[in-house]
Amino acid sequence: MNSQTLSLNLVDANVNAHNAQQAITKRLDDMESIGREIARIHAPSVDDKSRFPAEAIAALRQAGVFAAPIPVKYGGAGADCIELARGCWILGQHCSATASIVAMHHTQILSVVHHAKDNPQLQNYLRRVAKENRLIASVTSEVGPGGDMRSSSCAVEMMGDTYKLTKKATTVSYGNYADDLMITARKNNLSASGDQVLVIAEKGQFILQDQGEWDTLGMRGTCSPPATVTAEGAAWQVISTPFADIATHTMVPTSHIFWSAWWFGLATDAVSKARELFRAKGRSNPGVTPLGAHRVADLDAELQKMEYEVFGLAREYAAAIAENDLQKLASLGFSLRINTLKLNSSRAVVAIVSEALSVCGIQAYKNNGPFSLGRHLRDAHSSVMMVHNDRIQLTNAAMLLVHKGV
Ligand SMILES: Cc1cc2nc3c(=O)[nH]c(=O)nc-3n(C[C@H](O)[C@H](O)[C@H](O)COP(=O)(O)OP(=O)(O)OC[C@H]3O[C@@H](n4cnc5c(N)ncnc54)[C@H](O)[C@@H]3O)c2cc1C
Repeated sequence: MNSQTLSLNLVDANVNAHNAQQAITKRLDDMESIGREIARIHAPSVDDKSRFPAEAIAALRQAGVFAAPIPVKYGGAGADCIELARGCWILGQHCSATASIVAMHHTQILSVVHHAKDNPQLQNYLRRVAKENRLIASVTSEVGPGGDMRSSSCAVEMMGDTYKLTKKATTVSYGNYADDLMITARKNNLSASGDQVLVIAEKGQFILQDQGEWDTLGMRGTCSPPATVTAEGAAWQVISTPFADIATHTMVPTSHIFWSAWWFGLATDAVSKARELFRAKGRSNPGVTPLGAHRVADLDAELQKMEYEVFGLAREYAAAIAENDLQKLASLGFSLRINTLKLNSSRAVVAIVSEALSVCGIQAYKNNGPFSLGRHLRDAHSSVMMVHNDRIQLTNAAMLLVHKGV
């Protein structure tokens, strides 16, 4: 290669990087307007009717948001974890159901992106997801193991070039609206409960039967009933990387980061409402700081702590992925920090929304007013059990018994 070709290649690489960055910035701007003009408007009816946020999801699909995590070479935007978390935060300010669906989708698709490296069939799958903006749902929880993602009861059955599996899932969010499912299962029927694989089931290859009810306190728009999932597909759809590695390197850290970013968005909106109410109070009595205003200042401080922790961990994870530092991702220190992010942000969102409700008083307690925080509070309480905090605390306690670092 002569020096002219080399410099032309570098120019091409810079142009591609610049175009990709512009595409990401545009997507974040689109998410902001979709959040404000569509998701926010429909959020009360999504909650009230316990219905899928179809309008917001259709607009996000059209804006190419589901392809954002996919590398540019496969037709996506190549957004990193910081940019994806930013998108979850933006949507979280408008509609929790929409934000959580995008957060879950990003986690699922990154689980393929990070582990498709030398597999042409998985790479083709990513190209298809990018081109068609496919929406991916997750089936990890199961009757028996419950919310223990690292344990399965069902098993994959291989028959030549095809697989088959049946899983009794406790909670399948937006399963009826997803293009594809990612299902955890034991590698085969002789495998131990922790010897798992992650399986892709595409639309037309799976059926959801015996679906139960999803009538919950909050997060009603995620439409997440229990279901028996039966899937059949090609052997390449059973990802060969052990699920233990996918969980450690991708699924656990990204789910904790994206969920925390969405909870940060939910908390941001609650504090914004409190600030707006107090500004109105201030304007009605100029020169006098309204009673309770110091609590709004405290809320703002709590929000700042949450922001630093969410985006601090997002930056740490993005750097480790960029450097392919798998050792760091598998370290006890990083696992503890990423679990602690989930514990802290799930507690913070409940505390911040509760305090905002108390500060705003009756205006927030009333449903359907401009300062109403009932839906925020109900949605916030789901954070504790999106992988139960008790389970995560026990895992951290066990790691702390052997971890000597800080
Ligand atoms: C809005 C929402 C959407 C969801 N969407 C999906 C989805 O799309 N796909 C999916 O697979 N799952 C989904 N889930 C399920 C979720 O991921 C968890 O599996 C489920 O919420 C955990 O249920 P649980 O609270 O009964 O806890 P479990 O983890 O099943 O535990 C039950 C109880 O036992 C206790 N417990 C269990 N293990 C331990 C332990 N080791 N140490 C201490 N105590 C323990 C806990 O206190 C808990 O109260 C969703 C959940 C919610 C709330």
